[in-house]
Amino acid sequence: MKKVIVHGGAGDFSKADHDIAEYKEGVENAAQAGYDALATGNALDAVIQAVSSLEDNPLFNAGTGAVLNIEGEVEADAMVMFKGHVGAVGALRNMKNPVQVARLVMERTDHVFLVGEGAYSFGRHWFDHYDPVTNERRKKFEELRSQFLKGDTRWKKNVNLYAQHGTVGAVAFDGDLAAATSTGGIWLKLKGRVGDSPLAGCGTYAGEKAALSATGIGENIIRSVFSKSVHDLLPTCSLKEALQTMLTSSPETGAIAIDFHGNVEYAFNTNNMAWALCDQGTVLSFEVDI
Ligand code: ASP
Repeated sequence: MKKVIVHGGAGDFSKADHDIAEYKEGVENAAQAGYDALATGNALDAVIQAVSSLEDNPLFNAGTGAVLNIEGEVEADAMVMFKGHVGAVGALRNMKNPVQVARLVMERTDHVFLVGEGAYSFGRHWFDHYDPVTNERRKKFEELRSQFLKGDTRWKKNVNLYAQHGTVGAVAFDGDLAAATSTGGIWLKLKGRVGDSPLAGCGTYAGEKAALSATGIGENIIRSVFSKSVHDLLPTCSLKEALQTMLTSSPETGAIAIDFHGNVEYAFNTNNMAWALCDQGTVLSFEVDI
């Protein structure tokens, strides 16, 4: 049995900047790309392929098209987990595919997590310097920043400034389980802020019982240790029940998951979440009625 599920962020599609069909196409292509990677590779290759495809798609908040922090820079977070091994990067600047740097942290170092300048210098051993800021994101940054400066500038209120988050993630199953997540984080975040995505057990986890990638307000997902908590509720309840239980203690959150038997689930407590599943070669994806 082979399956790949991906997400392209939780949030509210009525406020999305592009036609929903474009997001749908993006997640469907990524699920297919991940699934195709299983033909010659393993679950790890599949999640890297799927997430890289979404990082290269400027509609999503990861890689090219990632959102900007308060200083107008992209600081990316990404993580991959496979067979108990973890690689992660945080506040990484100027790399095209943060998830690929995370994989190299896992495979080429004794560490699990590199951040900032150190992560960038490490990545430069393999990859060119790359500017992931698109004109569309730069324009949105100027709008959001002036709105922010006019309003209540306490950071806790800033959540209202964004609607569709666009973080990306993938979970693959081929007998083994792998999970990966990549994001620019949240609009106008403070420089140096790291979210849930690269924190093992929070935004991303692949254990013996299940693998997950979460999306939403990272601070909530960290506080609930969302992904590991879902994992640990198994097998006393189903994957679906475990997700529902944890969503009650993590507002503004969504997740995709596959358990060790190959059962696939997705769940969210936001208005919408973009997802697509490639199951034995057949692709299914989200529907939104607005
Ligand atoms: N969870 C991500 C973060 O807080 C954002 C998202 O999922 O859209 O960094």
